[in-house]
Amino acid sequence: MNRRVQEHYKRRATAQKSRGSYSIELLAEGVYRVVKTDGTAYTVNLQAKTCTCPDFRHRLARSGEYQGVWCKHLHLCAASFLR
Ligand SMILES: [Zn+2]
Repeated sequence: MNRRVQEHYKRRATAQKSRGSYSIELLAEGVYRVVKTDGTAYTVNLQAKTCTCPDFRHRLARSGEYQGVWCKHLHLCAASFLR
């Protein structure tokens, strides 16, 4: 886990949430739909720690430096729903 990268995404998610760029809908237990103001929507699974966005699928899900690093959508949902 790259802590510095993780913190970067967490700050980005927090900043965008405070600007109201996203809305989050509950789909199922631990599964959320994150909708951007432009209509782009991704599904976040907080239990599996996965997201359907290209950022997560193409880069963050790979092994190496970014393995295990959450995308901003995961951070958004975790910040909003994990206690
Ligand atoms: Zn994502």
